Amino acid sequence: MLTNFYDLTYEQLESLLKDHGFERFRADQLYRWVYGRRQTDFAQMTNMSKSVRDKLPEILRFELPKVVTHLKSSDGTEKFLFEVGGGDTVESVLIPADDRLTLCVSSEVGCNMGCRFCYTGKQKMKRRLTTAEIVGQYLTALDSLRASDNSAANENLAPRRITNIVFMGMGEPLDNPDAVFSSIEILHSPLGCNLSKKKITVSTSGIVPLIPRITASGARLAVSLNGVNDDVRSKVMPINKRWPIDELLESCREHCRATGDRVTLEYVLLKDVTDSLDDARALHRLTRDVPCKINIIPFNEHPGSGFERPDERQIVKFQNELIRLGSHVLRRKTMGRDIYAACGQLRTVAEKRRPAESHV
Ligand code: SAH
Ligand code: SF4
Repeated sequence: MLTNFYDLTYEQLESLLKDHGFERFRADQLYRWVYGRRQTDFAQMTNMSKSVRDKLPEILRFELPKVVTHLKSSDGTEKFLFEVGGGDTVESVLIPADDRLTLCVSSEVGCNMGCRFCYTGKQKMKRRLTTAEIVGQYLTALDSLRASDNSAANENLAPRRITNIVFMGMGEPLDNPDAVFSSIEILHSPLGCNLSKKKITVSTSGIVPLIPRITASGARLAVSLNGVNDDVRSKVMPINKRWPIDELLESCREHCRATGDRVTLEYVLLKDVTDSLDDARALHRLTRDVPCKINIIPFNEHPGSGFERPDERQIVKFQNELIRLGSHVLRRKTMGRDIYAACGQLRTVAEKRRPAESHV
């Protein structure tokens, strides 16, 4: 059985090579070729002897998820829909903002957490992604950027780099922790993709016992709060019945104590459910002793959700109330609306339109 190179952390690659009688430093060379130079043709890896180059294809293969659809929005957002085997698809979104270029990746096909407002949550979890499928979302997006930057129109511009990764696409990362944390190791490896761990954020709906794994990984923590008391939160996020707000926020404080970081608290604004000024005040009180920034996300509507997006005035009033009280609050822009950039939405549109079209 050939092993997919992209499934292996550096240590796993070293031990696989050792088991097959290769020297340790081959892992170093391979990481530099594959991640550093994006060269996957063993024949071109000229600093290895021919006998090594001939033997490597007997143990390693290179397989990335295929791009089914690639859409560019007028606001600069790009969305990729990937085929990950068995006809399943997941999506990633590339979001430019100021000097950052953030890739939002998926960790599962569907999601079992069943949050009421979430489009992905309506689709039962079908499969946990492999490490290669997670790393592959990054590599494919990067390859596509490089290809378009090499085109004549961009000749004089420096090539763009993906500066940040957020696990905020489809799925619950802590429901697939082994693949998620291995992929973080690979994305971080200085010989590999060389992304600082502080530029990688894992967002969770609140699987409390696994939050220490995020702490240990060195990545940043984001938590979907989405309710200011257990009543409301349990209604919109069933996971709250298992791990209520108190326990969740205590694990956030613990993370902050251990890392010195701030946690991002995501808060979806649902009309008449989570968006009142009383809610804003309660949110401030609840979080004032948690080192955090609050990220308010106006609900992205989808048919049959039973929720509405608050009107613009209410969104601004909510945010201003938090600012007035002294919370550190940011509003997440809804980007890529014209390309279905909301969580899980492209996938469904593409599946309805099959056979898939490529838009780029
Ligand atoms: N499962 C993880 C990460 C993926 S969801 C989590 O729940 O944190 C990423 C974010 O999108 C979460 O904060 C979630 O609350 C938010 N979200 C999901 N559906 C949304 C929608 N329709 N509109 C706005 N935000 C949404
Ligand atoms: Fe899953 Fe996150 Fe959606 Fe909840 S919000 S259903 S945890 S993807």
